[in-house]
Amino acid sequence: MAGKRDYYEVLGIQKGASEDEIKKAYRKLAVKYHPDRNPGDKEAEEKFKEATEAYEVLSDEQKRPIYDQYGFAGLDGMGGMGGGGGAQYSHAFHDFSDLFGNMGGGMGGGFSDIFDNIFGGGRSSRRARPNEPQQGQSLRYDLNISFKDAVYGTKAEITFQHNEACSECKGTGGAKGAKRKPCPTCGGSGQMRRQAGFFAVQQTCPACQGAGTRIDKPCTKCRGTGYETVTKKVSLTIPAGVDDGKRIAIPRMGDVGPNGGPAGDLIVMLHVEQHEYFERDGRDLYCAVPVTFAQAALGVTLDITSLDGKKIKFALPSGTTNGKLFKIKGEGVPYSEGRKGDLYVKIIVQIPTHLTSEQKRLMEEFARLENATTSPGCVPLASLSR
Ligand SMILES: [Zn+2]
Ligand SMILES: [Zn+2]
Repeated sequence: MAGKRDYYEVLGIQKGASEDEIKKAYRKLAVKYHPDRNPGDKEAEEKFKEATEAYEVLSDEQKRPIYDQYGFAGLDGMGGMGGGGGAQYSHAFHDFSDLFGNMGGGMGGGFSDIFDNIFGGGRSSRRARPNEPQQGQSLRYDLNISFKDAVYGTKAEITFQHNEACSECKGTGGAKGAKRKPCPTCGGSGQMRRQAGFFAVQQTCPACQGAGTRIDKPCTKCRGTGYETVTKKVSLTIPAGVDDGKRIAIPRMGDVGPNGGPAGDLIVMLHVEQHEYFERDGRDLYCAVPVTFAQAALGVTLDITSLDGKKIKFALPSGTTNGKLFKIKGEGVPYSEGRKGDLYVKIIVQIPTHLTSEQKRLMEEFARLENATTSPGCVPLASLSR
């Protein structure tokens, strides 16, 4: 970039200028050379771009010290200025609002077009086509279900509200014999320019929502919106084995789309409540059964009730250690074609905390037979059965 002027020179300030001085200097130049004020003046436009570029670098607390030390060369590697991409301007663009926000109106419109030129077209206004049918909004419904219902499946009836095409005007928004006419507010373009401080901002016309046309006689039932809010009831089959966070989509039960577009979906989000006795990991269920020290040592028959209420006799073998898991096949979560996960029973061995004198006497006798008078201290963890 030969012949480029020093940024401080461009803004007419000293090298050690404060943030405030940089802002002030740029504001002065921007107002003076603003292309709206100098229509068709290429030189003014160049000066405006030059000042904007200088401001962008000097107001950036990362770029300024690099520029101070290495000049333009230092900025090259940063994808610096003049590269043509729009991205590096965005910072300056954001700063404009506070720079000019307090200046009030006074500048003519048309600025956004110039913006498009300066900023490489990156922000060229992408016009939606507001008269085309669009898909309606999808709606979310949060449904709590019990742990058991999630495992075995259930039916639920849900009541919700959504927007449907107005039954009076069939979604057109017009009364009988109404006609569409160009919107008087925006003159039919669907877009309006609004002055935001220094800048003119394109925005969708609030009167016609960007359609560019308005109905001369709006439907009285929907006040011209074309839809009405309706309370709906649907029954929903929740399949066996669903998990917390699962979504079930009911197609076309969301809001109706604008301009006769298809409705969105109703997304039912399932929240599974916790169970008092069971936990779940995918297809498997877990429960815990406490046994006494003696039962664990000698073995015992346990009465276990499965989640669906089935009574199961389970023979706990002698010598069962604390925390051991036993699998009861096929008593878990159903998944496909009659197949089910498993139920895991965790054994919690309880050490007696209060002994009668008789129990104490026997326990002491037991300890004597065990001949364990000392403890070995720490042992390799792998040697412990868990
Ligand atoms: Zn209507
Ligand atoms: Zn309009």
